[in-house]
Amino acid sequence: MVAIVGRPNVGKSSLFNRILHRRHAIVSDVAGTTRDRLISEVTWDGVSFILVDTGGLESDPEGHIREMVQEQADMAMSNAEVILFLTDAVEGLTPPDQVIAERLRRSTKPVILVVNKVDNDRREMGAAEFYGLGMTDTHFTSAYHNHGIYDLMDKVLLRLPAPNLPPPPDGEEEAPPEAPAKLKLSIVGRTNVGKSMLVNTLLGDDRSIVSPVAGTTRDALDTDFSYRGQEITAIDTAGIRRPGRVERGIERYSVLRAVNAVERSDITFLVTDATELATAQDAHIAGLAWDMCRGLIIVVNKWDLIQETDRYAKRRAVARVQDTFHFMPYVPIAFISALQGQGIDGLMRTALDLWEERLRWAPTRELQYLLAEALVDHNPPGVKRHRNHRLRITRLRQVACNPPTFLFTVNDPKLVHFSYKRYLENRIRDTFNFGHTHLRLLFRPG
Ligand code: GDP
Ligand code: GDP
Repeated sequence: MVAIVGRPNVGKSSLFNRILHRRHAIVSDVAGTTRDRLISEVTWDGVSFILVDTGGLESDPEGHIREMVQEQADMAMSNAEVILFLTDAVEGLTPPDQVIAERLRRSTKPVILVVNKVDNDRREMGAAEFYGLGMTDTHFTSAYHNHGIYDLMDKVLLRLPAPNLPPPPDGEEEAPPEAPAKLKLSIVGRTNVGKSMLVNTLLGDDRSIVSPVAGTTRDALDTDFSYRGQEITAIDTAGIRRPGRVERGIERYSVLRAVNAVERSDITFLVTDATELATAQDAHIAGLAWDMCRGLIIVVNKWDLIQETDRYAKRRAVARVQDTFHFMPYVPIAFISALQGQGIDGLMRTALDLWEERLRWAPTRELQYLLAEALVDHNPPGVKRHRNHRLRITRLRQVACNPPTFLFTVNDPKLVHFSYKRYLENRIRDTFNFGHTHLRLLFRPG
C-alpha cells in the first residue's frame, strides 16, 4: 500500500489521478467507479499496489486541520508500506506541514517528501525551504503538468517490498490449477455494525486462533474454523481494540485496516447496520474489492431491528444498497441478525457458492465455441480513431481461478472498446453461470 498524505489543497487527489489514469484506460469507463475514488489498485511497470489518497478518509472531514492531518499520518504509518508526504511549492511551508512532518519522523516506513506545484524552474528554486523539514528523501512534481511523476514512481517502486508474485499464467496450461484448501474470509465494516458478534456467531466454540499478535502491520486477527466441511480462515478486523486509547467520541472506521484485510482475503463480508446502511467509506472499500477482483458480499446486520415494522423494508434496503454500490449489480446482499443468529446459514451458503464460482474452470473447447458464437452474434465495432483497423479475437481461454481470469488473444488490445468488453464478459457469465463474482478479462496481442 502506498498512501498519499498532506494538508488540503496541496494536490493529493490530482497526484492520485495522475498515477491512476495511466492504466485505467479501459476500467475507468465503468460508470461511477472513477468518481470520488480514494483507494485503487494500480499496476505500474508490472508492479501492483494499492494507492490511497488519505485526504478524504478522515473520520471527521469538518474537523480541525491539525487533527485531520494527524489522523492521515497515523493511518498511513500503521498501514502503508510507502508514504508520500505532499506539500505545495506555491503556498510554501505551512504549520500543518510541520505537524505532519513531526508525526512522520517517527515512522519506520519510507517517507518521500513530495513538493508539488513545481510547475517551472523558478518554483523549484523557491522550494528550498522544504529541506528544513528534515526529510531525507525529497522530490519535486507538478501533478498539474504531469512533471516528475514517472521519476517519483520509480522511487516508490524501489521502496516497495519485493512482491510475492504468483507464477505468471503459463502459455499452454489447459488444466485447472489446484484449488486452495482454505477460504480466506475477511469481515470489515464500520465500528458497531456487529462484526465481533458475527464473528463470534460464526466461530461458536470451534475456535483456534492462528495469529493473535496485535499491533503489527497485520492489523487483524486470523482465526481458523470450518463450515460444512470447508476450511475457512476468518480475518477479523474488529478483533483488536487498542487498550487505553481514547476514541474522542468519533466513530473510528479503520478504512485502511479494512483495505489490508480485503487485500489478504478471497471473499469479504462488508458488514453494514440495517438502521443506517452503507456509507461512503463502505463504498470505497467495496470499490477496492471490485478493483482487485475479490469476492464481496454485502451483509446487512441487525435486521431484527427492522423486519417487523414494515414489509417493504427489505426491498427498500436492497434498493439503497444497490444505489450505493451501483457499479456492482451482481454483488450478493445478505440480511442477518448476528444477535439472534438469523440468516447466518444463508450468508455462509452464499459465501460457499461464491467460493465455488471463483474456483470454477471453463474448458478451452467450450470457450472457443462461445467466442465464435459471440463474434457471429455481434461483430466488434470499428473504432473511429483507428479507421483502418478492426478488432480481431483469435483465441479465448481461462488462465486462472480466484478470480476467474480469461485471456483473449487479439490483434491489438487498444481496439477493445469498453462496451464490447462488457458484452464478452456477459457472454462468459451467462454461459458458465458466473452469477456473483467479478471476472478478470485480459487482452493480449497474439
Ligand atoms: P487535495 O486537496 O490535496 O486533494 O488537492 P487537489 O488535488 O484537489 O488540488 C488542489 C488544487 O491545486 C486544484 O485546484 C488543482 O488543480 C491544483 N493543483 C494540483 N496540482 C497542481 C500542480 O502541480 N500545479 C498547480 N499549479 N496546481 C496544482
Ligand atoms: P463491531 O464494532 O462491528 O465489532 O460491533 P459489535 O459486534 O461490537 O456490536 C456492536 C453493538 O451492536 C453491540 O452492542 C451488539 O450487541 C449490537 N449488535 C450486533 N449485532 C446485532 C444484531 O444483529 N441485532 C442487534 N439488535 N444488535 C446487534
